[in-house]
Formats: sequence, C-alpha cells, structure tokens
Amino acid sequence: MEPFMMKWLNNGEVVLPDLHMPGSKRIVLITHDESTFYAYDRRKKRWIHVSEKPEPVRKGEGASIMVSDFCSPDLGWLKSKDGTREARILFKAGKNRDGYFDCDDLCKQIETAIELFEEHFPNKSAIAAFGFDNAPSHQKHAADALSARHIPKGTRHWWGKDGKAKMRNTRLPNGQVQELYYPDDHPNHPGQFKGMAKLLEERGLFEEANLRAQCPNFKCEDITAACCCRRVLFNQPDFQNQKPAIFELIERHGHIAFFYPKFHCELNFIEQCWGHAKMHYRMLPLTKNEAEMEKNVIASLDKVDIEKI
Ligand SMILES: [Zn+2]
Repeated sequence: MEPFMMKWLNNGEVVLPDLHMPGSKRIVLITHDESTFYAYDRRKKRWIHVSEKPEPVRKGEGASIMVSDFCSPDLGWLKSKDGTREARILFKAGKNRDGYFDCDDLCKQIETAIELFEEHFPNKSAIAAFGFDNAPSHQKHAADALSARHIPKGTRHWWGKDGKAKMRNTRLPNGQVQELYYPDDHPNHPGQFKGMAKLLEERGLFEEANLRAQCPNFKCEDITAACCCRRVLFNQPDFQNQKPAIFELIERHGHIAFFYPKFHCELNFIEQCWGHAKMHYRMLPLTKNEAEMEKNVIASLDKVDIEKI
C-alpha cells in the first residue's frame, strides 16, 4: 500500500486522501507543524510619539523558540478536554539549550496528541487523520524497520545498522512470515542474520541470490534492473512499503497518517495559524529574556482561537 498521501496533479489540482472508510466513522483532521519564533522579529514601522527617541535596531534574529504543535478545525490547538494539558511543545534548539527536536521527540509528542484526541472522542468514536509535512526528519524509520541498505549478503552475526536493534521479521505478499534471523538453537548459524542471498533464495529468487552484493556505492545504473542482491531486495514490495516510524506509531493506535505533498506546505492550513500568531507576536515589545519571550509566544499562539482556525 502507498503511504496515505495527498496527490498533486499536473494541472495544479490537489486530490485529498480518501477519508471515507468502511463503517463510516467520523474522521477528524489533525495537522502537525513546527515553526520558529525569533526574539528580534518585530514590526519595523510604527507610529511613535514626538518625544520618543529612535532606538538602534538590533542585528540578527536573536534567541529562537521552536514550537511543535497539532491543530484541528474541529478542536483548535490540541488540548485535553478540561484544557489543562496540551500537545504543544516549546523547544529551545541549539547547543547548551534543549538540543535538537528529533524524530523520537516527535514520536513522544504524537503519543500525547493521540491521548488528548481520544479524550475528546472516547471509545474510538472518531478516527484522527494526522497530516505532516513531507520532511526528511519525518520520514525516519523505526530502529528495527526493514531496510535493504546496510545488510550483508552472507549469513553472519549482524545486529542492525547501528548494532543495536535486530531487523523485524517480514511478511511476503502471499502472507507467509519470513524470519530474517536463524533461531538461537540453529546448529550452524545460531541467532545469525540470514543475509541477502539466503533471503532472496527463500523468496524463490535463486538467480538473483547469485548476483554481486551491490553495484559500486549502491549507485545502480538502472534502479529497476536485477543488477545486484541489494537492488533486488530493495525493490521487493515489503521493503518498498516500509512506512516511517511516525506512521507506524499512529496506525498502531488505529488512526491515519499522511504527508502533505512535498514543497506545498501552504496546503497545510496550520501555516495560516502560524502567520496570524506571528503577526501578533511582532507587535509585542522586545523581550529581555527567554522566559518573557516564551510568554509572548504562547500568548500569540492562543490569539489564534478555534473560530479563526
Ligand atoms: Zn545494482
């Protein structure tokens, strides 16, 4: 199955993902996005009193606060029913600050978002359709995800590309489970990774199993050809259809995830929410410290109420 995506046609039309599902449960759009607020981002022109002296404008953008949040036309910014808990995360990116917001941070935030959503729609009375920008950081796979990129051709001890997580078992198109590792009590290869050649053989691809491990640097001339073991396995449907970690997490909870089309983030209506919040933010006076700045960011975001959303 294709990941759940909006399609962008050549004539400029957009085809929304088909949100009609069997059983006709209500589907609620929840869109995610990240945006950064800068300390010195201020409106440059304003009316001043005759007694006011011009102040020199600070250079650069100053400290920044990144906001990662979920927003819905039905629920506004995603919060608990009593409004005391929220999905929003403020993140001070950079060295000696909060570090960097990565896929694990986003996964944790998604867990909270699902919990809050299910408070509004108990007993799975609605399904959330989570929309994300199609950014590389959002496409990251789980540690044990199927990948043909780094696996050896031969049978040997191999514990994932960073040596930490065994790759998960897979299911062939006919529904049969294929184990990627030999069992721990195997006489010759206890607990070892089967290797690309063996995995291809088990799929009935005997000729392909005899190909070289990979073309130089895995830069195959024709990416559809059966030129090397890695390319053949890479093009197998189960390896092709490996979904990003955030999609797997959401689908595990019975909800839907999709990407907005690449380079068309304007289709994500949350962009207008950020725009409105920033318009308000830029009118506020310059702040002296991060705590003050944080207060301004939150106040500006909350200016975008559900009516506007
Ligand atoms: Zn190749």
